[in-house]
Amino acid sequence: MADAPQAKPLGPIPPGFGTEAGALTIGGWHVNALIDRAGRTPLFVYSAEALRERVAYLRDTMPAPLRVRYAMKANPFPPLLRLMAGLVDGIDVASGGELRLALGAGMAPARISFAGPGKDDDELALAVSNGVTINVESEGELARALACGRTLGRQPRLAIRVNPSFDLRGSGMKMGGGPKPFGIDAERVPAAIRTVVSEGAEFRGLHIYTGSQSLDGTALAAMQAGVLRLAAALGDAADTDVPELTIGGGFGIPYFHGDRPLDLRPLGTALENELAKVPPRLRGTVFSIELGRYLVGEAGVYLARIVDRKTSHGQIFLVTDGGLHHQLAASGNFGTVVRRNYPVAIASRFDTPASEVVSVVGRLCTPLDRLADSAWLPRAEVGDIVAVFCAGAYGATASPSAFLGHGPAAELLV
Ligand SMILES: *Cc1c(COP(=O)(O)O)cnc(C)c1O
Repeated sequence: MADAPQAKPLGPIPPGFGTEAGALTIGGWHVNALIDRAGRTPLFVYSAEALRERVAYLRDTMPAPLRVRYAMKANPFPPLLRLMAGLVDGIDVASGGELRLALGAGMAPARISFAGPGKDDDELALAVSNGVTINVESEGELARALACGRTLGRQPRLAIRVNPSFDLRGSGMKMGGGPKPFGIDAERVPAAIRTVVSEGAEFRGLHIYTGSQSLDGTALAAMQAGVLRLAAALGDAADTDVPELTIGGGFGIPYFHGDRPLDLRPLGTALENELAKVPPRLRGTVFSIELGRYLVGEAGVYLARIVDRKTSHGQIFLVTDGGLHHQLAASGNFGTVVRRNYPVAIASRFDTPASEVVSVVGRLCTPLDRLADSAWLPRAEVGDIVAVFCAGAYGATASPSAFLGHGPAAELLV
């Protein structure tokens, strides 16, 4: 018999889940009840309670005037989006399709902003005719948005997305910036603002977004302070007040072993201090933060059923009816350099102690389709349910669900 493989650590299971009759509960529901409700696996389940608690924690820790915006590309599932629309102050969309979903979820057009490079004329017209704020990504897009307003006889509401000269990095701000497809380079922003104003559009302010998935509160605070300084300088250079300022986002969640959740209290205090001393240029500004995964990521669980248990060269494989076509990120193929294990559990034996090292794989014919690599888990059989946590963001819609033709996963908000 070959040696049993060394176990590789799993990511931390987020708090808030329970156990009933030995199995995982999500939002108080037993996994079997959830699967019965959905009628099938694989299945994404999102907990409304977890979503509400997360927004409440953010409101509790961040300065009161800070508006919270949901970047819906993290999870556009319509029932979840409707819930989020009632919890947050605004929704950031990144396509015409998302814009229609946000309007359909009941978000007031004046509270929707539209970012993203390459907006086409139809998307610009949809935004202008609905009075949605466009975060302009280039001078070319600015010219087309202004032309669109003239054609429609509507005053476009335009904010400028700035490509700052700094980046958000886990270890602090990386100065130097560089070429990006996003936003207008900071030094050309004052001219763009002047164009917005002189062409009779409504100048809505600045959008400065520097990065995602940071668990480093010090780096985030430094980024926010840098954004405030830059916005004030740009307003001064254009001799224009800044009605609204998106001070970034980037709050991360712990996906991997050793990751620590962000403590928002010191970050909230630091931001409060910064806001208390903003220069005159920003005294009337409405500040907002734009978050995706931080709001929804830990509220979601991906459930898949084990359809085969096999051994190869001494290693045990649990083959599930799910895979990377639904949960690409957990397979390590969405924005990660080194593959590490997400938090994974045997949901149907949630309180059973681990007793063997197994790899949990999907059903796609590619070695990339691995949901957990050499994980220390309770013994599981065909029919058992695997849970992949941190599946609420960049899951169902960020995975190649058409690949191999198994079809999309079910989704449920409970
Ligand atoms: C993707 C994106 C977000 C959300 O990123 P998260 O890492 O999910 O918080 C926010 N703003 C913009 C402009 C984005 O492109």
